[in-house]
Amino acid sequence: MNQLLRLTVFFSLWLIGTSIYAQTNKVSFTIDDLPIQRPGAYTAEKQKQITRNLLANLKKYHIPAIGFVNENKLYTDGKLNPVRKQMLIDWLENGQELGNHTFSHPDYDKYSFAEFSREIPKGQLIIGPLGKKYGKPVRYFRHPYLHRGNNEAKVDSLANYLKSIGLTEAPVTIDNSEWIFAFAYDSALSAKDTALQHFIGNAYIPYMEAKVRYFEKLSVKLFGRNINQILLIHANALNGDYLGELADMFIKNHYEFITIEDALKDEAFKSNDTYYKANGISWMDRWALTRGYKGDFFAGEPATPDFIMKIAKLSYE
Ligand SMILES: [Zn+2]
Repeated sequence: MNQLLRLTVFFSLWLIGTSIYAQTNKVSFTIDDLPIQRPGAYTAEKQKQITRNLLANLKKYHIPAIGFVNENKLYTDGKLNPVRKQMLIDWLENGQELGNHTFSHPDYDKYSFAEFSREIPKGQLIIGPLGKKYGKPVRYFRHPYLHRGNNEAKVDSLANYLKSIGLTEAPVTIDNSEWIFAFAYDSALSAKDTALQHFIGNAYIPYMEAKVRYFEKLSVKLFGRNINQILLIHANALNGDYLGELADMFIKNHYEFITIEDALKDEAFKSNDTYYKANGISWMDRWALTRGYKGDFFAGEPATPDFIMKIAKLSYE
């Protein structure tokens, strides 16, 4: 072996070694129902504080997130609410991206394509121009309730329409019931019960970690590896207070934070989805159901603890 060849082989082996050593999981944070998930649950001051906390933690952990907006939340009594509009400007000024989540969060399963699709251009009348101004034009669409359509024709019409207006569907792989924890947290907040808030917050992170592990396992079963994950959470007081701990949990599990654009470069997102039923589920589940997996394949999905359901005043029945 001549010297050059020996050096090349050595260098190649070193590269392989380094890349295995540096191998990390990847996740994109997507935050729905901006500017605030339940504006009625908070004072204007609290809404601003939640936004500040979310943005400060995204910055601290270098998380390039996308916030999906419902523009109807920008209005109170039919008038544009400047405080809420400013909250969206704050997202853009912090270098975060905004996406379209329809104007008023309708459930596509309950409307025709013609009715539902009107909500989409109406959903970016404000964030469209704002996004352009900050060099972040609106590029992604998130389905309310993760409903892509409850029959093939509706799924196809919507998918084609989104493509025709330059919007990319934003899938979710780590689906979860964070919103139920958030409802419970809001009720503890309105009762000024800080001990209960801590109790809920302390249950939230291990629950999310269990969900991450569950979807990692599904990913390995489906693709033989952990694909780029896309996390869904919402803009609420719970994440205002716990986003840092949530980020720490991902770091502990060797995750790197990436944009949704980079996440979607994973080939896995080209997988077929012919699941046409009325369920808002993870894309991981959609792909598995499309491939015909049933029952045991989905075993072990962490459930929302009963005490959280009770505090949130929700029931599975
Ligand atoms: Zn939503």
